[in-house]
Amino acid sequence: MHKEHVYIGLGSNQGDSEEVLSQAMADIDVLENSRLLARSSLYVSSPMGPQDQPNFVNAVCLAETSLPPAELLCALQDIEQAHGRVRKADRWGPRTLDLDILLYGNQHIDTPDLTIPHYGMADREFVLVPLFEIAPSMIMPDGKPLALWVAKCNLDGLKRLPTSNQR
Ligand code: AMP
Repeated sequence: MHKEHVYIGLGSNQGDSEEVLSQAMADIDVLENSRLLARSSLYVSSPMGPQDQPNFVNAVCLAETSLPPAELLCALQDIEQAHGRVRKADRWGPRTLDLDILLYGNQHIDTPDLTIPHYGMADREFVLVPLFEIAPSMIMPDGKPLALWVAKCNLDGLKRLPTSNQR
């Protein structure tokens, strides 16, 4: 069965975020016809948008899957729901778990439900830095090395958690 490599961004700023992210990656590992191949460290980042909310914990993981993109999105939304995420109108508000499909093979997808590569990748240091950790030689969809994107990041609000915090 053909499998694609997918990079998934994870974020949480409610509850025990470190535990939530570790559990979410374990959940991804047991998705149908899927397997976790790599996980980044956990990073603490300042929130985007409203600042009166807790810092986020972020990570990126690599999985292989034969689920088509729309089915993978549904499966990831099930994982979000299982971790108690309540969808609110508030776009950048607090969330127990947010899962984004960053890259799906080298596919470009633009449907009402799914934009891949993920629209926010380029300017989010909490995505690019963990991605770089697990894919240091990656060439991005624009043909430029990920290293170049990372070099342009403002790293002020980002802190890598020590390995002892990774569960
Ligand atoms: P958010 O509030 O950022 O989690 O946005 C959730 C919505 O973004 C979902 O309902 C998806 O349909 C949509 N979406 C579009 N592209 C993606 C993507 N690459 N990964 C995850 N969700 C996406």
